[in-house]
Amino acid sequence: MYDFRTDQRFQNLTPFKEKLWLSSPTMHETELEYMTEAYRTNWMSTVGGNIDEMERLLEEYVGVKSAVGLSCGTAALHLAVRLAGEKIYGAHRAEVGTLAGHKVFCSDMTFDATVNPVAYEGGEAVFIDSEYDTWNMDPAALKKAFEIYPETRLVVLAHLYGTPGKLDEITDICKEHGALLVEDAAESLGAAYKGKQTGSFGDYGVISFNGNKIITGSSGGAFLSNSKGCADKIRKWSTQSREDAPWYQHKELGYNYRMSNVIAGVVRGQMKYIDEHIAKKKAIYERYQKGLADLPVAMNPLGDDSIPNYWLSCIAIEPQAMCENVRSERGKLYRHRKGKTCPDEILDALAGFHIEGRPIWKPMHLQALYRGNGFVKAEKDGCEDAVTYTGKENNGSVGADIFTRGLCLPSDIKMTAEQQEVVIDIIHRCFE
Ligand SMILES: *Cc1c(COP(=O)(O)O)cnc(C)c1O
Repeated sequence: MYDFRTDQRFQNLTPFKEKLWLSSPTMHETELEYMTEAYRTNWMSTVGGNIDEMERLLEEYVGVKSAVGLSCGTAALHLAVRLAGEKIYGAHRAEVGTLAGHKVFCSDMTFDATVNPVAYEGGEAVFIDSEYDTWNMDPAALKKAFEIYPETRLVVLAHLYGTPGKLDEITDICKEHGALLVEDAAESLGAAYKGKQTGSFGDYGVISFNGNKIITGSSGGAFLSNSKGCADKIRKWSTQSREDAPWYQHKELGYNYRMSNVIAGVVRGQMKYIDEHIAKKKAIYERYQKGLADLPVAMNPLGDDSIPNYWLSCIAIEPQAMCENVRSERGKLYRHRKGKTCPDEILDALAGFHIEGRPIWKPMHLQALYRGNGFVKAEKDGCEDAVTYTGKENNGSVGADIFTRGLCLPSDIKMTAEQQEVVIDIIHRCFE
């Protein structure tokens, strides 16, 4: 890789001794107390007081009737789409997947954990393009998708980087078509739309406590619902679907997806600090916003009707300020131009100084895994400016455009203001 430290533009800059992370766990000792309590009382299992209390805290915080602690967000998504499939199409085909032979409308620009569970259940994801106002699912594209595939009954929506999607429009469209909504709030715990928390809008909501999320259990996830019956079902499926009988009696397919009481102790401890984490993430976002204001870049949008959780700060380089940057399936190439840069140059420059950034989630419709799946974009009038700065990746979709021009900046809440100034400085030098 090109050595940025010997580049004229980066003179007098020294790499950080300790790596500056994108978003790493931040602990507060309280977690250790609850973990120790699990150990001391020997509830080293998938039952115990930490799980009960963590679920209660989460219900209270998000404002839902029921939360179920699970091994990870992906497991929560799997059980959520399975439950949706069973509700819509019946349980009789559970062994081949409750969504077998059915299409499901999914966010396109997201982590693949949002959509893989649809495939676990035999369903076929149809990807819905993003919009620029929140970088989430475009309601106009979703509307069009229902015109093309009117028989579809399930939508999986992710709230990226902590900014809620256009929930009013999307829940209306779902209602109009009798479709269920699964909300992937893995990245957006604590974010609110018109005063209500993400994860509480859909028929089912999903939270992740993965190590880099706004709060963490080291791993872990949760299923959210306003139906106690649904929560009970998820609890049962997540513990191998045991029936109420004196022996191991099974009627339904089960999974080992329950959260550990030790991990629940970490999450329980972290819950006390979630608002503090959000406030620090917000300060980071605002510092970038101010520090990068003189550059031809835009911060990731926050949404008009929302209070985001600011999980990751991202930028998108303005089209005219992009140097050539092409990406193949595995590699990348770019050519620096004076006054211009590109995501891969900024990411390489940051890495050169021991700083972690990340590309925007590569849209699912561009992934080899899902290349045969459907993809729906909103209507355009055909008179948009031609896009000339990209390689073959750009097909006129919003998702491909944001992927091409955007990147995630280090957003670790342990990052000092001084360290963040260095990041801001490096981005400036990339444009020189
Ligand atoms: C992290 C994440 C998940 C998966 O959560 P895990 O706990 O890692 O399984 C799902 N969707 C999105 C959008 C995520 O960012």
